[in-house]
Amino acid sequence: MKKPSKPHTDFKSLLGLGTQSTRKTYYAELEANLVDLETERNRYKSLFDHARHGIFQADLDGKVINVNPAMAQMCGFNSVISFQKNYESLQKHLFVSTNEYKRFIKELESSEKLDNFETSFCSMSGTELLVSISATLKHEPQHLIECFVKDITKLKEAEHQLRIAATAFESQEGMIITDQNKVILRVNKAFSRVTGYSAEEAIGQTPALLQSGQHTKRFYDQMNESLSTKKYWQGEIWNKRKSGEIYPEYLTITAVESDDCKVINYVGAFTDITKIKESEAQIHQYAYFDTLTDLPNRQSLMDNLSTILKRAGRTKKQGALLFLDLDNFKSVNDTHGHSTGDLLLKKVANRLKGAVRETDIVARLGGDEFIIVLEDVGEDEKTVILNVKEVIDNITSLLKQSIILDQFEYHASCSIGVTPFQGGESAEEVMQRGDMAMYQAKWSGKNTCRFYDPEILVPQFHMAELELELRNALPKYQFVLYYQPQFNTEHLTGAEVLLRWQHPERGLISPEEFIPIAEETGLIVPIGWWIMESACQQLVEWSKSESTSNLQLAVNVSARQFSQISFVEQTISILEHTKIDPNLLKLELTESVLLSDVNEIVTKMNKLRKFGIRFSLDDFGTGYSSLSNLKKLPIEQLKIDQSFVRDITTDPDDAEIVQTIIAMAYNLGLDVIAEGVETIDQREFLELSNCLNFQGYLFGKPLPIEIFTEQLLSS
Ligand code: C2E
Ligand code: CA
Ligand code: CA
Repeated sequence: MKKPSKPHTDFKSLLGLGTQSTRKTYYAELEANLVDLETERNRYKSLFDHARHGIFQADLDGKVINVNPAMAQMCGFNSVISFQKNYESLQKHLFVSTNEYKRFIKELESSEKLDNFETSFCSMSGTELLVSISATLKHEPQHLIECFVKDITKLKEAEHQLRIAATAFESQEGMIITDQNKVILRVNKAFSRVTGYSAEEAIGQTPALLQSGQHTKRFYDQMNESLSTKKYWQGEIWNKRKSGEIYPEYLTITAVESDDCKVINYVGAFTDITKIKESEAQIHQYAYFDTLTDLPNRQSLMDNLSTILKRAGRTKKQGALLFLDLDNFKSVNDTHGHSTGDLLLKKVANRLKGAVRETDIVARLGGDEFIIVLEDVGEDEKTVILNVKEVIDNITSLLKQSIILDQFEYHASCSIGVTPFQGGESAEEVMQRGDMAMYQAKWSGKNTCRFYDPEILVPQFHMAELELELRNALPKYQFVLYYQPQFNTEHLTGAEVLLRWQHPERGLISPEEFIPIAEETGLIVPIGWWIMESACQQLVEWSKSESTSNLQLAVNVSARQFSQISFVEQTISILEHTKIDPNLLKLELTESVLLSDVNEIVTKMNKLRKFGIRFSLDDFGTGYSSLSNLKKLPIEQLKIDQSFVRDITTDPDDAEIVQTIIAMAYNLGLDVIAEGVETIDQREFLELSNCLNFQGYLFGKPLPIEIFTEQLLSS
């Protein structure tokens, strides 16, 4: 670039003191210089006017002196003039705030020159412009601030976007970027965390590095097909970590295309869904399996039963549904707490599984109710019944074996309702029949099994209904007591008090029908107290006459009632207010009482023994009490169960059992009574075997008190 000429300083010439020719030359020179200057100025003006960046000059007060069109345009003005009109002052108009202006001036004054000073300007429309200013402080020929301004709004925005992208790349999701040949270019930290491969190990490889071998070639072909047609693939895939562990991930692959629609990269984003899969499995487990026993629950049972029924219909092979309800479960729960109850259910669940084939279903409905579905048990009724009975024998004998519950041994039994099915029925129908058969079994006494019989099982007596009626029976005075005589070899010694329900429509109902339900529901407790109170009132009556004042009364006490914390206190309170002779009251307990902590039972019994109350162990021989437990109990009497007495004269085994019981009782210093004595032969056998107390139809049936008095005491 040509330097501008220096101004002419030949004064002599200027004053016209030179020659004509010298003057001419001088003017020509001057003119040429002026032209040069003009050219030079125009060049700079052009540079100034056409510069892409904004340029302006201002004085030290911030007054804008000169501005180029780029600067005006940057701020939203279409001409330099309108810029100057509106933006007279830097601090007032151009800088976004006075503080920013002050910061600018301060830095400029301290160093005279600023490079890339970043600040914000106000545009005409009021939006902010991010700018970078390079400024110089000029002192000659006058004080001036000269600025070059670059609009960096877009640059900053792009930087910001990049930062977002970088943050997003380092997100929780694993990311892989490959080139068009699927060679890995970049991975993020989450990738390394999930796969175990560092970035160095992964870069240069292809994602085949992660293949688990769990998918077919077809799977990968379909993925590639989707990528080439839709430029996209999404789905679940099993991959392999560096450790060799196979895990599920949810993967999205997107193809990145260039402007001319060629794939240049693939971006894969994935999440390790091991946890999600686990919780899915957990949810399935919760929805279909019982959390306590891990057995299928009702939902799962109903689903499977429907399938099984359809199959049975097709194959013409019958199946059977067994509805099981544990006996005495409530008393285990009440006396030992729920954790023991839970333990019992778990153990029972395992035993039940062991009693059937692997393919049979064992499900838990809730509480102590279980369902067993046996498939393919025969094609005719006879075979079905035979096969089912075999399974039931299996179940009962497995349950009978002792179950260790915390600190005691338990022998479980259950009531089983059975319904065979052919396959034409709905799952609900079959369940309902099983349910009815189970109640039929319950009503027939515990530890029984009943096949569904539509003739017998008219569902007029649903559990809930019966329970409601039972609840009302006490306040409605529907219970009556029957008295069955007990004899020794010479005379009447007393009676056993037996409960009857005088139902307004159904007549007299046997305790065997309603006592199991009274026990299940806990109603046996208030009913039991009513029986005890009534029996004591009867003793009061008998005490009034010499002929009856020595008669004893035996009262049955259910395990549930005995396990009440206040059992001793309540019994004593009855003794106290009736003022009876406690020696005349005998409490019959069954071995189910022994389900609770033996020491606790012994303590309770001893407290009552001190008052003079006696105890008899009912149904002896049918339970499972160990001899060592038996020895601890402060009982007076063993009551030989009627099932042994029944065949005593015909079955040598029973005869032997009875003789063993009697011998054992004497060894333990206990008295013995036989119940269910119906014939003279039985009585003679018993007497010869040294059993000297009897109860049974031979001596008298259970009778209402008036008839009892009339028949036995009038003579
Ligand atoms: P359990 O305590 O073993 O009562 C004896 C049962 O045998 C009575 O039946 C009685 O009627 C019956 N029985 C007596 N002698 C003979 C006989 O020679 N032959 C035959 N075949 N049976 C005879 P019941 O009264 O139907 O009572 C059945 C069960 O109901 C009782 O068995 C007892 O477990 C329960 N129970 C009856 N009354 C009460 C009660 O007041 N409280 C409680 N907790 N349970 C009771
Ligand atoms: Ca009894
Ligand atoms: Ca008995």
